[in-house]
Amino acid sequence: MTPKYKRIMIKISGEALSGGSGTGIDAATINSIAAAIKDTRDMGCEIALVCGGGNFWRGARNGLVMERSRADHMGMLATVMNCIALSEALENLGVPTRVMSMVDMPRVAESYNVSAALRCLSEGIVTIFGGGTGCPYFTTDTGVVLKGIEMHVDLILLAKNVDGIYEADPRTNPDAKKFDRISFEDVLARGLKATDSTAMSLLVDNRTSVLLFKAEPPENIVRAAKGEAIGTVLY
Ligand code: UDP
Repeated sequence: MTPKYKRIMIKISGEALSGGSGTGIDAATINSIAAAIKDTRDMGCEIALVCGGGNFWRGARNGLVMERSRADHMGMLATVMNCIALSEALENLGVPTRVMSMVDMPRVAESYNVSAALRCLSEGIVTIFGGGTGCPYFTTDTGVVLKGIEMHVDLILLAKNVDGIYEADPRTNPDAKKFDRISFEDVLARGLKATDSTAMSLLVDNRTSVLLFKAEPPENIVRAAKGEAIGTVLY
């Protein structure tokens, strides 16, 4: 099977690793995500990954009295923990990986370097980026768009808990129509929510296509890379 896209970026949220509990890492869940990533790579895709950290910590919603930047530093460290776990799950399946961090911690992960990352991708190494953007007050959705642009990916896959973008909230409006494709401008003009506003403005400026699709089941990653009509394409 030939993939539609040669190089893809996949965002794995922290919550997606938690197996429904919302916290921590569920072994069966991370292994099934790793298996889907392996199947996608076996088709010939070059794969970049960005992990979120919300299963361990979210800077803005931690309930403690903390300087926001310090709380966000903890969130970025959480993303690196998920990257390490995903890297190990992939290596257990025989998939070569490299973890690069936007927060320097050389004993734990390689510091991000654009040339090294591009080389890893072209050699078929699944390259996993931790630490989001490396800056507080951002999210990993912004990190994934930034890295997707820098890595010249053909498509950014944003796995969510909904199966695409609707003209209205499908929970309150069951007749709401799902878009198969929608432009960034149309999303903004209609006031629809696809991702956060920083990520959105980067997308508008750089015109990298995004597929929003349902994270469950993980095989959706393979379907998306094949170019099957799932989710909503933003262009
Ligand atoms: N974070 C940050 N800068 C970034 C990316 C993440 O400060 O560029 C912090 C922030 O505190 C965030 C936490 O890391 O709440 C976890 O990231 P995120 O909430 O995006 O993870 P996800 O919801 O995708 O699991």
